Amino acid sequence: MTAKPKSGSDIRARLGLRPIINVSGTMTHLGASIAVPEVQRVASEILPEWVEINDLHRKASRAIARATGTEAGFVTASASAGITLALAGCMTGADLAKIEQLPDSAGMKNEVVIQMGHMTGYGAPIEQAVRLAGATCVPVGNVTDARAYQLAHKITEKTAAALYVVSHHTVQYGQIPLAEFARVAHEKGVPVVADLASEYDLKGFHAAGADLVIYSAHKFLGGPTAGIVAGRKPLVRATFLQNAGIGRGMKVGKESITGTIAALEAWEQRDHDAVRKLERSYLDLWVKRFTGLPGVTATIIPDPTDNPLDRLMLQVEAETARITAWELADALASGDPPVIVRDHEAEQGFFQLDPCNLHPGEAETVADRVVHELSEARKRNRPQQYSHAERKLRRFERLLRWPD
Ligand SMILES: *Cc1c(COP(=O)(O)O)cnc(C)c1O
Repeated sequence: MTAKPKSGSDIRARLGLRPIINVSGTMTHLGASIAVPEVQRVASEILPEWVEINDLHRKASRAIARATGTEAGFVTASASAGITLALAGCMTGADLAKIEQLPDSAGMKNEVVIQMGHMTGYGAPIEQAVRLAGATCVPVGNVTDARAYQLAHKITEKTAAALYVVSHHTVQYGQIPLAEFARVAHEKGVPVVADLASEYDLKGFHAAGADLVIYSAHKFLGGPTAGIVAGRKPLVRATFLQNAGIGRGMKVGKESITGTIAALEAWEQRDHDAVRKLERSYLDLWVKRFTGLPGVTATIIPDPTDNPLDRLMLQVEAETARITAWELADALASGDPPVIVRDHEAEQGFFQLDPCNLHPGEAETVADRVVHELSEARKRNRPQQYSHAERKLRRFERLLRWPD
């Protein structure tokens, strides 16, 4: 099977990179997202020009404020940088001496309360993003159960901020709802910072009580690699001022600031119903192609955090399919063209196909590749070659050998 030829000039071929198809989602390790045409255009327009960067930041602040229903906004390197700088802003306010003192937080409020079920990672631990600001995490509750009184009890005169995470990465039950979390924090005079890196709703979480909201520009927005911090003006100002301190190493250039503005404007213009319909047609195609194949069950499932998107779950019954879910994922990733599936739960016997990042024709190629690999597995008739634990170990070994 061969890859559908793309317009002869695929830069990946020139660089010697594999022409992967991404049905995993908006992942940093796969190039984040397909930047929308408006973003590509403004980034190349601004790159050869001089600009007064803080004026450009002012323009971005207004665009972000409008899109998020907040007072002000700030663009930094990533959502992860946004978390660190937002918390730093809560610690220092607009005091430049304190800003230069970080990450030494002596004499400042330097504790961040966070529900234990939110202490996740997204390629790096969120707890480290907190420590980068010179703060420490104070966990609330246990992994699957946190309560308002426990949050109130952990807030002291050392508490700089309360951090809330909305993500499929967190525990999906037993957590304190944002509105209640914010009510408890606000009663104690503590600002709430919400990591919403991968959420579609740009307004609801601020409305529900988050003083600072954080989004990735390079995920569903289809923007450049950047992070957006938005919210109450004094806190956003304090976050922006970290550019004169620990934010320097997390700075963005003119192309990312301009690109973020363009991505937000394009998001407001986008025909979201049409996008949804297109994604649905991919899901329907996959269900049709996989239904009835021995050992697999295809089901359309909603996004776990209520983003308006569905994915395909492919359950693999290894005895019948003659291959495990993780080995099928690996076969798809190593074939031609390589298809990278959403497999972080593969040890439970399933993976997902995300329909949000496909170029025209790729959904059909994905279907062909899955059907092909399943048929090969049945021909080989060699169930489970390696365990999920072995696979996980191998991945880290490979990472540690970089760049080989
Ligand atoms: C992706 C993600 C991040 C990291 O976002 P970057 O912009 O890539 O730094 C942080 N938090 C959550 C919940 C995420 O999904």
